[in-house]
Order: sequence, then structure tokens, then C-alpha cells
Amino acid sequence: MTDVKGAMVGGDRSLNPSQQEDPDLFVRVAERKPNGGIVLRGCKAHQTGNLNSHWMILMPGSKMEVADKDYAVSCAVPVDAPGITYIYGRQSCDLRAMEPGDIDQGNAKFGGQETMTIFEDVYVPPEYVFMDGEVDFTQRLVERFTAYHRRSYVCKAGLGDVMLGAAATVADYNGVAKASHIKDKLVEIAYLNENIAGTAMASSYGGKATPSGNFLPDVMMANICKHNVTKLPYEISRLAQDLAGGLIVTLPADKEFRNDVAGPLLEKYLKGKKGVTVENRRRILRLIENMTMGRNAVGYLSESLHGAGSPQAQRVLIQRLFDLENKKRLAKHLAGIVE
Ligand SMILES: Cc1cc2nc3c(=O)[nH]c(=O)nc-3n(C[C@H](O)[C@H](O)[C@H](O)COP(=O)(O)OP(=O)(O)OC[C@H]3O[C@@H](n4cnc5c(N)ncnc54)[C@H](O)[C@@H]3O)c2cc1C
Repeated sequence: MTDVKGAMVGGDRSLNPSQQEDPDLFVRVAERKPNGGIVLRGCKAHQTGNLNSHWMILMPGSKMEVADKDYAVSCAVPVDAPGITYIYGRQSCDLRAMEPGDIDQGNAKFGGQETMTIFEDVYVPPEYVFMDGEVDFTQRLVERFTAYHRRSYVCKAGLGDVMLGAAATVADYNGVAKASHIKDKLVEIAYLNENIAGTAMASSYGGKATPSGNFLPDVMMANICKHNVTKLPYEISRLAQDLAGGLIVTLPADKEFRNDVAGPLLEKYLKGKKGVTVENRRRILRLIENMTMGRNAVGYLSESLHGAGSPQAQRVLIQRLFDLENKKRLAKHLAGIVE
């Protein structure tokens, strides 16, 4: 969905696709074939997981004007179609994956990746073209898609569950689990996290069937859920880092623990509570590091902020949907105001 919109090549966020100096800054139909097939040019930024998918579905990222007809395009493309180039994104601490051992990676099993996906004259046959030039439908398409997508940000509550577990574990290992402020901070993490889960579920419960039989989630609650996600994981991360202590950023590298001189010293001086191995203490600290500032902070924090639209995108929808006139009417009624 997300076009580069000119961040790299002197484009301008305030201009529509057709007003940009370079016509390729939003993905566009560069050519229409007599059989109804189309040829794409342009670049989508930040594409999560398309390298491990079979197909991608393209769609416009915003409402289009009549002049933007060539940019109102939605279609399906196999990821290995000729003319596509992927450029892999960098992630914080990514080179740790190339070091021996699995501790410093924090989460050696899972991670995500994003690519810039460049289309240079990619042919799409007519059966895979869903929208070509119907600018009137772009706003509704974007709004509906983002309602599903913003509601799907319940996934961050799953990550929040892991953060809660990690914060509680590190407190156990440090021998402070019984302190009242520690318990209270764990309650705060749970409270914040359930606000994400709850608004996502409310969006689904408020979903309505369309005439075609699809279900659309409640758009207001989907946007509230995503807006929670732009903020609450940052506070949850702060609390988890609070409980982890400074070792989260000063812990020596795994290879130091395998060093003949440093290893035994580290084992002696980094002991936690009795019965807890130094290795397990390191593992939980690295997991919190990984999720709050390492590779998985891409998914837990930055994607929470910008994915499915930066915070302002949700505020625009909330403002459009909050029916202020009705709320003013209720207040005036109770206040006995007659205008
Ligand atoms: C980790 C990650 C994964 C992602 N995965 C995907 C994916 O799989 N597929 C996909 O399509 N997208 C994906 N996105 C993209 C995401 O939807 C965008 O990052 C988001 O829409 C913001 O766009 P942008 O990054 O171009 O930032 P910008 O548009 O440059 O926004 C930066 C700031 O500028 C403001 N701004 C932007 N335009 C205007 C304007 N015209 N007027 C006033 N203010 C403006 C924004 O509100 C924001 O505060 C992903 C993003 C991240 C970070």
C-alpha cells in the first residue's frame, strides 16, 4: 500500500501523485495493453514479509483525484514477476544474527523484514487487475482496508503479553518480584496491554455484514485500537526496561562469557537470585533489549507507530466519526440550554 511518496528523490508529501516531478513516486499504470492487462512502474516502501509470500496485492495508499487516474490501481502480482527488484531494509542490531551463539540475538527464532519493492515495467494480466482508474472508490477502499488493518493491530497485545512475561521474569531473577512497586508496574503493563486487546475485540464485536456477506469491523474502534498501539507499547517498553535494570544496555557480549579470563569473572559477578543461572538472566535481558531496541523493536515499536498509518491518520478518522454535533446536543440538553 505505502508508496515512497518522494522521500528519497525530492518528492513532496503535500503533492498528489500526478503533481510530483517524478511520475514514478507512487505506483502507477504506465501502459494499458489491448487485452486489458496493465504495466506497472513505481516503488512501494516498507513492505513487510513480501519476501516470504507467494503473491502481493497492491492498492493505493490514499484518496485519489481525477488527475491521479493512473495511480488508482489495485492488482495481484506474484512476488517473482519479471521486473521486480527487492532492496532489503536494515534493522537495529541485525549483524548479531551473523555472530556465533543465539543469546545476544534476544530472539533467535523469529523476526521480520521489510523491503523496498520496485516495479520496472511489470506486466499484470487482466484477471489480476481489480482497480484501474476508478478514483471515486479510492477513499472507500483505503478506509475499509485500514479498518481491517488497524483492527489487526491486536497482534501487538500478543507481543505485550511477552513483554509482561519478560518483565515479570527479570524481576523474579533479580529477586525483587515481591516489592509492591514491581507488582504495580506489572499490573500497569497488563492494564495498558489489555486496552489494546479490548479495543480490537470491540471493533470485531461491532462489525457489520455488508450486502455481499463480508464483515467489516467497527471503523471507530479499529482506529482507537491502532491509536492505542501508537502509544501504549512505548510505555510498556519503558516499564519493562525499568524492571530490567541497566544491564539491559551494559551486559557484555556472549563471546566475553566464553573467554577464559572474562567468562569466570562474569559468571561470578552477574549472579542473580539463588537458583537462577547467569545464562537465563542474560537471555531474558536480551529478549527485552531485542523487543525494545533491537531487531524486534521494528515490529513492537516503530511499526506500532507508523504501520497502517502514522498517528495522525487515525486522528483524522476519529475526528470524522465522533459525531460531535450529537454530543453537543446531549450536553446542552442536560444543561437545559435552549438555543
Ligand atoms: C516496520 C514497518 C512496517 C510496515 N509495513 C508495511 C507493509 O507491509 N505494507 C505497507 O504498505 N506499508 C507498511 N508500512 C508503512 C506505513 O504504513 C507507513 O510507514 C505509514 O503510512 C507512514 O508513511 P511514511 O513512512 O511514508 O511516513 P510519512 O508519510 O513521511 O510520515 C511522517 C510524518 O509526516 C506526517 N505527514 C505525512 N504526510 C503528510 C502530509 N501530507 N501533511 C502533513 N503531515 C504529513 C505523518 O503524519 C508523520 O507524522 C510499514 C511501516 C513500518 C515502520
